[in-house]
Amino acid sequence: MNHGGKIVHWVEGKPWEGSSERTGPVFDPATGEVSGDVLLASAVDVDQAVDAASRAAVSWRRASLAKRSAVLFRFRELLAERVDEVAAVITAEHGKVLSDAAGEVQRGLEVAEFACGIPHLLKGGFSENASTNLDVYSLRQPLGVVAVISPFNFPAMVPLWFVPIAIACGNTVVLKPSERDPSASLLLAELWAEAGLPDGVFNVVHGDKEAVDQLLRHDDVRAVSFVGSTPVAQYVYETATRNGKRVQALGGAKNHMVVLPDADLDLAADAAVNAGFGSAGERCMAVSALVVVEPVADQLVAKIRERISGLRVGDGRQACDMGPLITRSHRDRVASYLDAGVAAGADLVVDGRKHPIEGAADGFWLGPTLFDRVTPDMSIYTDEIFGPVLSVLRVASYDDALDLVNRNRYGNGTAIFTNDGGAARRYQSEVEVGMVGVNVPIPVPVAFYSFGGWKASLFGDSHAYGADGVHFFTRSKVVTSRWPETGRASQGATNGVSL
Ligand code: NAD
Repeated sequence: MNHGGKIVHWVEGKPWEGSSERTGPVFDPATGEVSGDVLLASAVDVDQAVDAASRAAVSWRRASLAKRSAVLFRFRELLAERVDEVAAVITAEHGKVLSDAAGEVQRGLEVAEFACGIPHLLKGGFSENASTNLDVYSLRQPLGVVAVISPFNFPAMVPLWFVPIAIACGNTVVLKPSERDPSASLLLAELWAEAGLPDGVFNVVHGDKEAVDQLLRHDDVRAVSFVGSTPVAQYVYETATRNGKRVQALGGAKNHMVVLPDADLDLAADAAVNAGFGSAGERCMAVSALVVVEPVADQLVAKIRERISGLRVGDGRQACDMGPLITRSHRDRVASYLDAGVAAGADLVVDGRKHPIEGAADGFWLGPTLFDRVTPDMSIYTDEIFGPVLSVLRVASYDDALDLVNRNRYGNGTAIFTNDGGAARRYQSEVEVGMVGVNVPIPVPVAFYSFGGWKASLFGDSHAYGADGVHFFTRSKVVTSRWPETGRASQGATNGVSL
């Protein structure tokens, strides 16, 4: 809710200011100008939002499945009608190009569609006569209040990975979006209200560590779904589990795309450029390490270089291919890796600082950068840069490529490009990564599967959305039941009443 440049919280079905006077600046990354100030909640503000969610949980958990799915269907329709509006809000604060922003809304929408089927998804099991005259059956029940804490890079999609399923399962939600691009979450809140969701079932508190810490320690918050960088994911996981909460904490990534010598190199070059530089590399599934099995590296690097020269970098509203980075400090941090790579001995094939920019001088720009002959000890390989920097690592064999990927501390996504089905099949089986693409560079699972990485890319054992999402947001209960036959019924039966 933009109240004269002030971006406020959303609690109990309406905009809400809380009592904290702390704010943070929100930028238009394409101009470098401040577009608003977002309120940063205090612990007291968080308590009030959680109280509102707790009150709403009493009746929402009892709302019929028919009622809950009707709200979900309506929300899905409203979101589908307003994809462009949500995308425009994302681009204004994040900077990604409009088509990318619309794409992320679409992927979030698919989770809302999945959640429309909640009556089916919550069906339990029933075993008649498990023992003589004894029936056993299972239920899945909501947890209560759940917290969702999301990163800047997908301000609509990541909340939508969790919120529709949490709500469909009968929980109430407090969302703490990234303070760097907070407005998309408020548009989602308006759509929920318009869809007929009762007040207090979905709440948004803006803030930073102070708000997060209060969510992690509040007794009434039963579960936490977190997405962000690995150090914060680990902190959230350890703190919230220590406080007795159920936690799924998705962290950072270093995604490898392996290219075997028999691959279609044009297809691989297109994929590497899209997956490396789309959304300015600020995707948790972006490809940042291109592992090329010799002897095709020279050819592939030449093709990628040629494609990079055709990329239009500029204002995301102006039909460009790539927008700015999220903040000036992040831009400078990413640019510092260009010097670090050169100092470590990598070949700087394309220097993003020299790329032509179609945008305002003060925007947070950095063009696409390509390094070749990168080795596993260099910081441009070991660190998650989270920007438009693609590193080529040359290896001699499939086994060397696999070994490199499996030795990396992260395990979010990976892809293999080849025309050899047997090699692809071996890779999908042997690679220690949660999401694998075969000739698909960004293998984000569709909504009826689940999203999640391995190793330092996920803390906890539950992936996001799909069946894992339904399990995460519910507790199972098993009932063992025996009903003694009343005299009356058995009398009726012996009296020859036909049943
Ligand atoms: P971030 O970790 O800085 O912030 C994520 C959330 O945590 C935000 O809401 C932020 O306000 C909060 N936060 C930040 N510092 C905190 C602290 N010290 N204590 C408590 N809360 C804190 O991440 P980001 O920069 O917003 O997002 C980019 C990161 O997210 C990248 O590392 C990216 O790989 C990762 N990411 C991962 C996935 C995935 O599915 N694995 C998806 C998207 C993004």
